[in-house]
Amino acid sequence: MTVVVSDRVLAPVYRRAAANCKMPSNKSVSDAPITQLVNCRILRDHRLQREDLWVREGKILDPEKLFFDEKAYADKQVDCHGGIVAPGFIDVQINGGYGVDFSRASDDVGAGVALVAQKVLEHGVTSFCPTLVTSPTDVYHKVLPEVKVDDGGGHGAGVLGVHLEGPFISVEKKGAHPERFLRTFRSGDLADLTQVYGSLDNVAMVTLAPELEGSLSAVRELRRRGVTVSLGHSVANLSQAEEAVRHGASFITHLFNAMLPFHHRDPGIVGLLTSDRIPEGRSVFYGMIADGIHTHPAALRIAHRAHPAGLVLVTDAIAAMGLPPGRHTLGQQVIQIQGLHACLEGTQTLSGSIATMDMCVRHFKHASGCSVEEALEAASLHPAQLLGISHHKGTLDFGSHADVVLLDESLDVRATFIGGQEVWRKKPRKKTDL
Ligand code: ZN
Repeated sequence: MTVVVSDRVLAPVYRRAAANCKMPSNKSVSDAPITQLVNCRILRDHRLQREDLWVREGKILDPEKLFFDEKAYADKQVDCHGGIVAPGFIDVQINGGYGVDFSRASDDVGAGVALVAQKVLEHGVTSFCPTLVTSPTDVYHKVLPEVKVDDGGGHGAGVLGVHLEGPFISVEKKGAHPERFLRTFRSGDLADLTQVYGSLDNVAMVTLAPELEGSLSAVRELRRRGVTVSLGHSVANLSQAEEAVRHGASFITHLFNAMLPFHHRDPGIVGLLTSDRIPEGRSVFYGMIADGIHTHPAALRIAHRAHPAGLVLVTDAIAAMGLPPGRHTLGQQVIQIQGLHACLEGTQTLSGSIATMDMCVRHFKHASGCSVEEALEAASLHPAQLLGISHHKGTLDFGSHADVVLLDESLDVRATFIGGQEVWRKKPRKKTDL
């Protein structure tokens, strides 16, 4: 993959148009350089289209307006060699990676987040929600103020806010969350939440169990503050889950894992996928850890076929992601890695994964038989819709942030761009490797 740079490049289609058109005055809206990704198929309007992608000042441009209104051309072309250009991946559940555990309140939380932000670029991730498992109160109070929300760039993927998984979850479905730090609500009001978490300023999402007393007012309180509410680690029945959705919950944390199994007379939280009691105009999304371990391919297919538009790929990756097998941590717990399995030490309890997002995209496509477009949207458009940011992230629509992943036919990541700037590129293989 090479980058071709040339001055004042005009794409053939616009060169033809230029020959047939009276040109407007040479009045530019902005003098900032324009980049054109050429020789690619871009994911737009739910399908791959043979089009170029035009970028200026970090945003995707409408080339027709650019040419006819501004008479402006590309300053730089990037040859994608026939690759796929998709919106950058968004991971809304990632506990850490590369030795960094977000739940461990290290001396320099910011540096840990920055390291992961930088390393996930090679997996096509352009923004993410650092996730904390159930932790002691002092961990929330120390970590949350230090995780700064930002758009990302050359330094790494953007941070969309923290995902707090717990501590208001079910003891019976705690999974790898330490029981001694689980909490119940007193009333579910703001004081209840801030007493545990401190400030909600940098929080994007909270996972809670809707069967807990006071949870509905907590859902309302969180929604009022723009925090996405997810249901998980729970023994809720379907009507409790539907009630939480009516109060503002919109996500299911790692569907099938840490919840009641599907039962035909009461399908539990899983039943939300086909519920007819979701308020008009609202949609429920659900997270899937498509690592080939957390969910059987048949279950993945059931979920996808029942509700394809709600599927959100998450890695649920832990500190061990990107490191060799052995003993690692997840918050206050010790995790043993064997192969692709991450288990609470001495048990068979799965506790996060060591999967990367691009791996999940490939596995999801393979296991579900879905289209390339569907696999890519599950890692980009859907998480953006879930977080309410699809007007500028998760799509390649005009005006969106130019956060882009360039992939080959096998969905291997070739390069990653944030705000139109190339932030990672796969090194070409040496001749001796061929
Ligand atoms: Zn979990």
